[in-house]
Amino acid sequence: MKQFDFTRDYHSYANTHEVKVTHFDLALAISFEQKHLSGHVNLAIEHQTENLAKQLILDTRDLTIDRIENSQGQALAYQVDDADNVLGSRLVIDLIADDMWVKINYKTSPQAEGLQWLTPAQTSGKKLPYLFSQSQPINARSWIPLQDSPKARVTFNAKIMSPHGMRVVMSAENDADVELNGVFTFRMAEPIPTHLMAIACGDLAFKTIGKRTGVYTEPSMLDACISEFEDTEKMVEIAESLLGPYRWGRYDMIVLPPSFPFGGMENPRLAFMTPTLIAGDKSLVSTVAHELAHSWTGNLVSNATWRDLWLNEGFTTYFTNRIVEAVYGREMAELEVVLEYGRLLEEFKTMPVEKQTVTANVQEEDPNNAFDRFTYDKASMFVHDLERRLGRTDFDKFLITYVQHFSFKAITTEDFIAYAKETLLVDHSDKINETELLEWIHGVGMPSWFVPPTSKSLDKVITSQQQWLVNGNANELEASSWSVHHWQYFLTTLPELLTQAQLQDLDDSFNLTLSKNAEIAFAWFTVAVRNNYEAALPAVDSYLKEIGRGKFVRPLYKSLNDAGYTDLAKEIYQIARSGYHPSIVGMLDNIVKL
Ligand SMILES: [Zn+2]
Repeated sequence: MKQFDFTRDYHSYANTHEVKVTHFDLALAISFEQKHLSGHVNLAIEHQTENLAKQLILDTRDLTIDRIENSQGQALAYQVDDADNVLGSRLVIDLIADDMWVKINYKTSPQAEGLQWLTPAQTSGKKLPYLFSQSQPINARSWIPLQDSPKARVTFNAKIMSPHGMRVVMSAENDADVELNGVFTFRMAEPIPTHLMAIACGDLAFKTIGKRTGVYTEPSMLDACISEFEDTEKMVEIAESLLGPYRWGRYDMIVLPPSFPFGGMENPRLAFMTPTLIAGDKSLVSTVAHELAHSWTGNLVSNATWRDLWLNEGFTTYFTNRIVEAVYGREMAELEVVLEYGRLLEEFKTMPVEKQTVTANVQEEDPNNAFDRFTYDKASMFVHDLERRLGRTDFDKFLITYVQHFSFKAITTEDFIAYAKETLLVDHSDKINETELLEWIHGVGMPSWFVPPTSKSLDKVITSQQQWLVNGNANELEASSWSVHHWQYFLTTLPELLTQAQLQDLDDSFNLTLSKNAEIAFAWFTVAVRNNYEAALPAVDSYLKEIGRGKFVRPLYKSLNDAGYTDLAKEIYQIARSGYHPSIVGMLDNIVKL
């Protein structure tokens, strides 16, 4: 097997060991007509060695560079290499002596992978266009030339020009009362990993939830979002009691148009959220808890490379559960853990054995491949196991010290192991040993001692499900008190093959094809498509044209293909494609071959 240097970030060209960008000032104008950002970035650099670095190497993707100069205004020679499919283009700048600042004039491409430009017709209000970014994992480089590595933390200031009457927000300090006069200034004084760079511009209104929390979104959606997310302030307080002080000032959220490709994105001070969370009954708000938990695990303590993503996602998935338990009770928390474990078991079926580890060995792949159920759910099962072994009080002590110890640092899996050897394995040698720790981190499958999570209320769902499979009358299912979680569990654990009569029975009784809950609809469509229940296909068609969240659309297109509806998948995709975020279109192109 090929040996990799695990301290190296294989997804960045940057020469951070020689010279580091520590801060930048960004000045960009947004043009909806040209679909580009144009202006300049002024990078503050720090040489890392006695012998001053001769070159500054940056990451870029599809940027047009106009001129590069130093602080004296002297032009600097530079070269943009041919683009690599995954990494983009290396930008090599020749430095003069002890340059401290490098100014790059540039503009982005209308196809920039990290930016989506929506027409007014693609928004709720239909009046103004909309722009928003998605930088994780390596798309910040498609809108800012920088050292695009989680290891290279930066502070920044920004001045952004927009059309008059529109609001610009960033992953920085946002002033909700600012005049919408076309000029916005921002400051992020805490150093952040570059995948947390974020911007949005649209017809955005704001309302507060609590003293540190609030929501930005299109005016027509504002009230619904505020009531859905009304527990956010309480979540911040609970998270602080578990993990220590919240270090980012405000915790605001922006609820984006349905093409936002993720459930949420933990951009500091301004988490980005999909509108598919607005279910009307707070049933999907654990995503709010998840993005909030990242304020500690992910944004304070960060993965150093995409191989180490589990340190962000595993701890955060665990924490989400603790926040949910404190706000909504133990039963809801248990339901979610069982569902997470179910998702993981599903992925065990298709993931090659050597990839069934919490570490994501994507050194020679697209880092998007690191986002699987192993980095999230297997890693969170590891953290739950630690909690079980140590007991909650001792485990909580470990966690808070761990977060404090590595605050504002990027760490590798090996850094975590070294830290655990000095703390966990010494203080709790009777509860966990090194072999067990390493089995969790490097082992494939689940460790032999692993006890699967259970939930009494989901056990009841299975009992009802089995009765229905025998008796065949869905009206007799005791489903009136079921939450989204019960429905997800019921639908995802159904046998592979069902009869048309069974599907019709379920649909007639519970109107599943017309479900307004994005999670229930998705779980139902998966079952319906797999069993060629064609009454659901028109609803699948509109769902795929309306929603661009990767978690839903990727598997649905796959299901359509697998069930023999490749022509239908193509027909839908042909129309829907331009509405999806550029960062997921590449993946979808591989599923639906137009
Ligand atoms: Zn996450």
